[in-house]
Amino acid sequence: MTRRWTPCWPGECLAAISLTFDDGTPSQLKIAVPMLNKADLQATFYLCPRGDDYLEKLAPWREVARAGHEIGNHTVAHPGPRAFRDDPTARGLETMTLADIEKDIVEAKRRLQQIAPDQREMSFCYPCYQEHGGSGPTRQSYVPVVARHHIAGRGKGEFPFGNYPSTVDLHYAWSWPAERMPGSQMVGLVEACVARKWWGILTFHGIHEGHLSGAENDFRELVNYLQANHSRIWTAPVAKVARRILDWRQENGI
Ligand SMILES: [Zn+2]
Repeated sequence: MTRRWTPCWPGECLAAISLTFDDGTPSQLKIAVPMLNKADLQATFYLCPRGDDYLEKLAPWREVARAGHEIGNHTVAHPGPRAFRDDPTARGLETMTLADIEKDIVEAKRRLQQIAPDQREMSFCYPCYQEHGGSGPTRQSYVPVVARHHIAGRGKGEFPFGNYPSTVDLHYAWSWPAERMPGSQMVGLVEACVARKWWGILTFHGIHEGHLSGAENDFRELVNYLQANHSRIWTAPVAKVARRILDWRQENGI
């Protein structure tokens, strides 16, 4: 096949990397955001705007949005599988319809737009990486629901596969969970993206905090590497990379 595609990534960049953070934990504000700001790198933070006082609780994230980071939608209720619990009366994705899920997604987006009023586009993050409602004969993907309301959705993929800009499903883009991952492994994944011109997405939760946490030193190693290599590796929020891919596909008739 003869390809005459223009390069997808800006300037001389050979890969795109998105750093994504779920659940809006305090260590993200305390450790990750200042480190990223110092390195002039922008990331995506997926928040759940819960409770009547969500504006108050999420107030510190307004400044994060103003610094150029993306505020992303992680739903209001963070619906996960009820199979996490040993309780047949438990509610969860298995007991939800696509209409239930859509109602939550739309409301979460409306609330988060108040936190990041200048942000043009917003990506979505599947709670617990799950993209279905119902179970067995009633189980249905809610990826099409996300596609109605968001430029992109972040799910989970397999090691070591990144996303090809020509073929990635932007509404279930693959990411690598980075909890407890050594810095050298993250740098290795970044270089795997360079080798294949992939879009690589890393998923973080807390730093030295909560479930699925990672270490500050490992995160610093990655940030320093991305900063030192910014002319060959484009680090950008999910919505921004998705927008670039859509424009590039249009330019190239893909
Ligand atoms: Zn989450």
